[in-house]
Amino acid sequence: MELARKLIDTHDLTKDEFAALVRAADEPGTAEMLREEAAKLRKQYYGNKVFMRGLIEFTNYCKNNCYYCGIRAGNKNAERYRLTKEEILECCAQGYALGFRTFVLQGGEDPWYTDEKIADIVRAIKDAYPECAVTLSIGEKSRESYRLFREAGADRYLLRHETANEEHYGMLHPASMSLKVRKQCLYDLRELGYQVGAGFMVGSPWQTPEHIAEDLVFLKELQPQMVGIGPFIPHHDTQFADKPAGSVPLTLFLLSVIRILLPKVLLPATTALGTLDPRGREKGMQAGANVVMPNLSPVRNRKQYELYDNKICTGEESAQCRGCLERRVESVGCVLVGERGDAVK
Ligand code: SAH
Repeated sequence: MELARKLIDTHDLTKDEFAALVRAADEPGTAEMLREEAAKLRKQYYGNKVFMRGLIEFTNYCKNNCYYCGIRAGNKNAERYRLTKEEILECCAQGYALGFRTFVLQGGEDPWYTDEKIADIVRAIKDAYPECAVTLSIGEKSRESYRLFREAGADRYLLRHETANEEHYGMLHPASMSLKVRKQCLYDLRELGYQVGAGFMVGSPWQTPEHIAEDLVFLKELQPQMVGIGPFIPHHDTQFADKPAGSVPLTLFLLSVIRILLPKVLLPATTALGTLDPRGREKGMQAGANVVMPNLSPVRNRKQYELYDNKICTGEESAQCRGCLERRVESVGCVLVGERGDAVK
């Protein structure tokens, strides 16, 4: 309780204090106190608005082998697909008509889409919808590639750091990947003028309160405009198939902590949260989240972009998704808005 009070008063804690706060997350009253403060801060900076981002999952090919992820290269059972530029633009057209003003292009790390192809797609979207923001979420690239995408018009970039602890990073990824490179990517993106999103999974295998504390210290240092956190959920075709899923209450607790740590941050109530709890996203908004990312991918491909088991919203048309989310957002006293929704300065 005392640490929660200190966090509210100073918007920061030391690493050891964060770890102690996380360990005491289920002490009576603590989560409620942080939730109230988080809701107050969100309201102060963003009113009751919840921004929607249209997620276009344009490829599930990936050259990486992250141990937790269902579309990792080594999963021979994954049915692979790629969207053409025309198909991506069709998703944007549908999204635009439904009021979306941010398009998020997410995919595995798929070398088939060369830098030139990605830049060309970004340019085409910005030409057609100059008032819309384009967000990329396509993994680790060189600074030069990031520069090219930025010059093509990309506004934002999502790259979760996954865990800020070196050793833990090594337990979730093959030796070919490193936290150092991941962090460097985030610093490069920031320097190039992107609005940057970092983040991590809650309850990934072997995660400790100390690891989460390091995540929070790293976020405070990086000062990203967006932070994506969601519970880890096992995928049956990975080596983590039998690991337990992350905790919904702890995810909600951390949403509040992050809102207080970075009051102006854009914070999604993730699909993973909605997958583990039918009202997970609503609870996320009550805990301080102010973004939702409904799917604009073609319905025929949605099941194929399977990062984890039982992912929700894979059978619906985009218009249905929008309507459903609108009702969910309103059920917690917020309003779903179709604006670019940049972070407040
Ligand atoms: N290739 C891109 C996009 C990754 S998918 C990149 O590297 O950034 C987006 C996010 O989904 C990942 O960053 C990861 O945090 C999350 N994710 C992957 N597998 C997951 C799982 N099994 N459970 C929960 N979240 C998962």
